[in-house]
Amino acid sequence: MSITATRRRNQENVCCKTTTSIKVEALKSKATLRKKKLLHDFHELPDWQRDNDKILTGYVRETLSWKKCLYSLFYWNNETVNIYTHLVPAIVYFVFGVTLTNYFLIPVFPSTTWSDYTVINIFLMGAFLCLMCSSCFHCMKQHSEKQSDFWSKLDYLGIISLISCSMIPIIYFGYFDHVSYFSLFTIVTLVLATFCTICVLHDKFNTSTFRPFRAMFFILFGFSGLLPLTTGLFKFGLQGVLNRIRVSFVFWEALFYISGALIYGFRIPETLAPGKFDFFGSSHQIFHIMVVLGSVCHLKAIIDSYKLMHSHFHS
Ligand SMILES: [Zn+2]
Repeated sequence: MSITATRRRNQENVCCKTTTSIKVEALKSKATLRKKKLLHDFHELPDWQRDNDKILTGYVRETLSWKKCLYSLFYWNNETVNIYTHLVPAIVYFVFGVTLTNYFLIPVFPSTTWSDYTVINIFLMGAFLCLMCSSCFHCMKQHSEKQSDFWSKLDYLGIISLISCSMIPIIYFGYFDHVSYFSLFTIVTLVLATFCTICVLHDKFNTSTFRPFRAMFFILFGFSGLLPLTTGLFKFGLQGVLNRIRVSFVFWEALFYISGALIYGFRIPETLAPGKFDFFGSSHQIFHIMVVLGSVCHLKAIIDSYKLMHSHFHS
């Protein structure tokens, strides 16, 4: 009797263990399936989403839903680093916009004028807009081809706003006592910004035929910053320029932007080891970090130039 009971108990235990392991396996495969549904490989993407064939995994496939795009903020995918490397600094620049001049600069330099206040905040606003638009683009581009195009245009407009809003304060501090030069260089900046905006917004210019023109306008726009700088060298001499603008940080900024663009352009390092940098360390992520570092150098150049102006260092 007791032997039969023990045997039955053993059979029940085996049965119970088997059921539990089946349940665990089912849960595991369910979780894997859910994870699989969220992330896709490059070859599973629709044509319009295929951009970088050296990034092989971790894609959020076309969602056709805002909710799903926003939900992608909460799980790790190959856009996560791109989104947060610009979202967090965008928020920091916004906070700076509200606090920096009011609480940290004006109390130290009561001679601050409205124009000083405006140009510093123009840069902070431009940096905020650029980083925020970029972050939104990386989050929303998964929606659909149409939305990807829209957010991509916004991303470009953000870059235009950062370049314009970076140039104007530097021109201002360089030529604060030469209104005609300040006006001339500001107009040149705004005209080039308008051309770039037209290039970005006009669908015709977005075709591959016009890509070289678009690239040329952007390069021209970026390098137009050399115009006030070289004019300043002729007009004030090297020491005069150094007394007005903290040039060293402008050079660091250029170095970060140019090296970031080259890394992005040549798709380094993922070209050297496809699939190894899908989530961390891809060229676009490095480019994002370089843009942030470049913008921080520019902020430092603006603040130092402002301090030079109010410390009466000018010759
Ligand atoms: Zn980007």
